[in-house]
Amino acid sequence: MASSFVRLLSVFTIAVPCLAATQAKLANFADFQAAANQHQTVLKLVTYPTTPEEVKSITAAVLKKADAALAALVAQQSAQLNFANSFAAIDALNGSMADTGAMLETVAQSSLSEAIRQSANEANVKLQEWNVSMTYREDLYLLLKSVADTKPTLEAEQQRLVDFIMRDYRRAGLALPVAERAVVEKRQKELAALTTEFSININNARAPLDFTATELAGVPQSFLDSPEVKQADGRYRVMANITWHAQAISENAINPTTRQRLAYARNNLARDKNIPVLTKLVVLRAAIAQRLGYASWADYQIETRMAKNAATAIKFEEELVAGLDAKFAAETETLRLLKAADLKQSDATLESWDVGYYTNKLLKDRFAVDTEALRVYFPYQATLEGMFAIYQKIFGLKFTAVEPPYVWAPGVQLYVVADAASGAPMGAFYLDMFPREGKFNHFACFPQKLGGVLADGRYDLPVVALICNFPAPSPGQPSLLKQSDVVTLFHEFGHVMHGMLARSQFVNNTGFAVPRDFVEAPSQMLENWVWDKTVLDTFAADYRDQTKKIPAATIAAIAAARQATEGYGTRRQLSFGLIDLALHAVPTAEAANLDIVAVSNAVTKRVVIAPVPDTAFVAYFGHLAGYDAGYYGYQWAKVLALDMASEFKKAPGGFLDEKVGRRLRDEIYSVGHTRDVVESVEKFLARPRSQQPFLDYVGIKP
Ligand SMILES: [Zn+2]
Repeated sequence: MASSFVRLLSVFTIAVPCLAATQAKLANFADFQAAANQHQTVLKLVTYPTTPEEVKSITAAVLKKADAALAALVAQQSAQLNFANSFAAIDALNGSMADTGAMLETVAQSSLSEAIRQSANEANVKLQEWNVSMTYREDLYLLLKSVADTKPTLEAEQQRLVDFIMRDYRRAGLALPVAERAVVEKRQKELAALTTEFSININNARAPLDFTATELAGVPQSFLDSPEVKQADGRYRVMANITWHAQAISENAINPTTRQRLAYARNNLARDKNIPVLTKLVVLRAAIAQRLGYASWADYQIETRMAKNAATAIKFEEELVAGLDAKFAAETETLRLLKAADLKQSDATLESWDVGYYTNKLLKDRFAVDTEALRVYFPYQATLEGMFAIYQKIFGLKFTAVEPPYVWAPGVQLYVVADAASGAPMGAFYLDMFPREGKFNHFACFPQKLGGVLADGRYDLPVVALICNFPAPSPGQPSLLKQSDVVTLFHEFGHVMHGMLARSQFVNNTGFAVPRDFVEAPSQMLENWVWDKTVLDTFAADYRDQTKKIPAATIAAIAAARQATEGYGTRRQLSFGLIDLALHAVPTAEAANLDIVAVSNAVTKRVVIAPVPDTAFVAYFGHLAGYDAGYYGYQWAKVLALDMASEFKKAPGGFLDEKVGRRLRDEIYSVGHTRDVVESVEKFLARPRSQQPFLDYVGIKP
């Protein structure tokens, strides 16, 4: 009894220290629901199942209702058909399926009960299968096509819905003659199986390497002492497939032969199995794209993205590669000189296995920044409230903590977002911020309910959740965040805002539906706030002495350290994107003859540095399964993010400028995916896009 009481108490202490302090002040959720009604909106929370049986019964009821809705939809006489009872009805059905999927995903990732998590995962698989089977229903496709073919007069957002749905059917192969379509479907299934095989081979790849203590000179003792590393025979086992093992060696081992051995093993992971699989994948993807009418798989994949086609993505990457030339060369020369001094050999050549080691040396010797020491400035609660104040100010919003009617775990908090000027509720968000057993172990924004127009014309307000794993507070010690945690917090909360502010008529066009090479940009943009002294001074203070702010010199030193290796780091990212495109922007005939190892290694050599001889890094490049022809998107979004951030930088109020904030809310966040994001970005910037802010960030002056 006693021990279970103590455990309960400690869970309570960890999870709800702030809630307990502010509980008396928590507002009533029902008051906001009433306010929402006055503004012709509906503020409704999701109901979460509390038993595995309830997960099953809710899912079964949703599928039954969806089957009935679909049956009624396809049973309509063609004379009765119009936009509302065809395309809008399908969007509403997609919306209710997406909401159920979002709820199940949250439960699967965060429920306290393993049985509930398990049953939510199973239910989600059923839901996905249902969605796939709906995509391939020919009767539904023909019905929608018949409406689209009449070319009804529609509003812009309605037309966008019709265009997207018909485009996605075409992309799935439904527009092909029946025999052709069957081939595409068969190939798609083969593709799915091969893609899974590629990922499994990566997950299963192991490369144990044994070293003597002498061979590992320079590697931190704490690493050598870890139980899985130290062997009974006195040697040390390094797993080249485990990233932190590999980093410990590549950044610290003094002996270059040790680093080279590690690099050789790491860059040959999954080689035997995955080179044949990837070779087949590349050919198969090209063949599917060709049957669907595209010149290459990259053209097919990128069609729905902001870049629109492979040529634009390649041009973007190559231009940045060229733009970074001088900075990249200077950085590699700095590293080479460190090696030359180290070996007392002036003509020493920098090898790929030297880069991590000399980069680490450079950061330690020249840019000594103790990031751990910065934690005292970022106690969790003050940081959260500081971030809230900033978002409320720039977006013209008001957040109010309310008593949550239901929480999936102790300590989960609920806030209502309202427009500051009118007081109209805009939606609600949950915070589930600290780790616990069995919970999702990264940081992410989970939609709970997508917003949309209800049948009676009122707006159903969105609900989202932020699920994170910040260090938990302990008795007598607040949770102290790393600066990188604060960056993550600002980033993830940007996604919350995107979900909260978008006002689309259709689920298809919400803020979460924007193209993949754009979706991260608004959040990446908000990361910049955490590098700004004025912003930091609004909330970051030593928790033991509030008068102590972060010294400007410290902020400058962190920025300088980052910039010292940014050229190399960016070129490396660009090389990944270019390898991905080199494998996927080729027509079928070329794909069949592609030597994928030679092509990939040639890109690495040209853009970064010659790889370790006789290696095949590409076999272990996990993004090629699932993010294929999409890797360029990381840098694409980052360039946009910095371009957008520069509008704040030059404004009178800097990163706290309310006028630019309002423009951001109106032109980017509120419009969601209701218009082309290219247009939204240019409306926000009120000028053509520019790469210069990105180059400034890397440290290249115009
Ligand atoms: Zn993100």
